[in-house]
Amino acid sequence: MRLIFLGPPGAGKGTQAKRLTDKYGIPQLSTGDMLRAAVSAGSEIGKRAKEVMDSGGLVSDDIVNQIVSERVEQADCANGFILDGYPRTVPQAKALSENLRQKDFVLDAVIELKVDQEALIRRIENRVAETIAAGGTVRSDDNPESFRKRLSEYREKTAPLSAYYQEQGELVVLDGMADVDDVTAAIEAVLEKDAGSSASAARI
Ligand code: AMP
Repeated sequence: MRLIFLGPPGAGKGTQAKRLTDKYGIPQLSTGDMLRAAVSAGSEIGKRAKEVMDSGGLVSDDIVNQIVSERVEQADCANGFILDGYPRTVPQAKALSENLRQKDFVLDAVIELKVDQEALIRRIENRVAETIAAGGTVRSDDNPESFRKRLSEYREKTAPLSAYYQEQGELVVLDGMADVDDVTAAIEAVLEKDAGSSASAARI
């Protein structure tokens, strides 16, 4: 199963992707996580990406396209994968579809989680508070200034992907404000093409 999760920062893509990895035994491919690992490792890509990530901007399409192209060829992706945070621009979506076509991989679904912006700011504040309470390190881009920039990048560059995938008949939009278990149920219903009762509550 090959999936894309779309939605603004804080929409719950990562949370939902993690739940599906357990159920379907396929990895979550978060370009944000991959880039943060590159930054921590001090690799060439990490050095190029760090500043733009800290400011809340988007890393260049070429870098992320390359990372994902290599990653989906690894053995743990043999049964599929969940793309979380990629594609984030229409050129990335076009590069991805060409990349998948060349590898004979078919996309099963593009799922967008819709959330309201006030809720996003609260969710990010909660994520920071929970991370601090757990003794973890707060992401360097989880601060109000970078978050505003990440949201504006989303509106300007990523939101147009909804129309792109809608035109291709691949988009399913779900209510990311619903209870987290209901969102999971709705996603599973989409994947199993079997809209159950609590599941349909979250479908828009
Ligand atoms: P995320 O963990 O998905 O919120 O991503 C954190 C940061 O990594 C973003 O704000 C971008 O700077 C960078 N990033 C992650 N995925 C992409 C992508 N597909 N295209 C460009 N930049 C990305």
